[in-house]
Amino acid sequence: MGGTASTHKLIRDDGKRYDGRAVDELRPITIQAGVLKRADGSAYVTWGDNKVLAAVYGPREVHPRHLQNPARAIVQARYNMASFSVSERKRPGPDRRSQEISKIISEAFEAVVFVEQFPRTTVDVFIEVLQADAGTRCAGLTAASVALADAGVPMRDLIPACASGKVENTVVCDLNKEEDNCGEADLPMAIIPRTGEFLLLQMDGHFTYDELMQAMEYNIKALNHIYQLQKEALRKKYATVQLEEPFVLPKREEPAPGPEVDLNREEPVEPPEAPGPTGAPAEMDRDSQGGA
Ligand code: ADP
Repeated sequence: MGGTASTHKLIRDDGKRYDGRAVDELRPITIQAGVLKRADGSAYVTWGDNKVLAAVYGPREVHPRHLQNPARAIVQARYNMASFSVSERKRPGPDRRSQEISKIISEAFEAVVFVEQFPRTTVDVFIEVLQADAGTRCAGLTAASVALADAGVPMRDLIPACASGKVENTVVCDLNKEEDNCGEADLPMAIIPRTGEFLLLQMDGHFTYDELMQAMEYNIKALNHIYQLQKEALRKKYATVQLEEPFVLPKREEPAPGPEVDLNREEPVEPPEAPGPTGAPAEMDRDSQGGA
């Protein structure tokens, strides 16, 4: 939320946004569950130009041990933006922003995972932003939630997240990078869809009361849609295909029968040639006489 001036109008004269979206329109989202073999659970999300991978391990023993909680599991999320995820190389490693995002994501998941069932353990959640275009904390939460379900970690519900905001005095759904950088306000939000409880609500910039209500309404509509996509991604991975007819292997083709052979029939035997005067076959006798 830089508030810097954009090189072009973010809201066009026809009321649409410069990328052609309506004010209440999300960017295209795809979610794929179970994309990594080594992790206990994983998910890959593309969200407009964002590309985010999430992997989950656990519940497993906590190291170092002093972090163990004898009453429940801890959730340790690590959000990381790859150096190549933004147009200017990002310095690798944790910074204040990634630590803040890791903390809010850990807290959101501690509220939905049944942590009391796994004392002394940790559930580790890794979020890698491969390409960033604003809204990455929300894309990360959305992906991590599917990865946790894919790992079989018991949870109250999946968590969808989305960030709406304000650009050129217009409230818009799901800010992209240009809108985030040049806009006036940003409202990332995550809820538990089944209960409507808030798990994440951050606000950067200034909204009037009505604008804030409008941004929340856009977010809630978006979250319901993202929730369906999350469930669909898990259904796709775990769907069992039921055949309508029992499947029978096709019969092996028998080779065409050849001419019948009577194995008991005796073949006629040619009589041997009569011996010559020397006792050898007549042909050899003739040769030896010619040579003398
Ligand atoms: P979110 O990605 O959740 O919207 P921010 O509002 O902090 O989080 O960041 C908005 C966008 O700004 C990011 O998605 C990314 O495209 C860009 N950005 C953030 N940090 C950096 C950075 N260190 N270098 C370059 N771009 C960045």
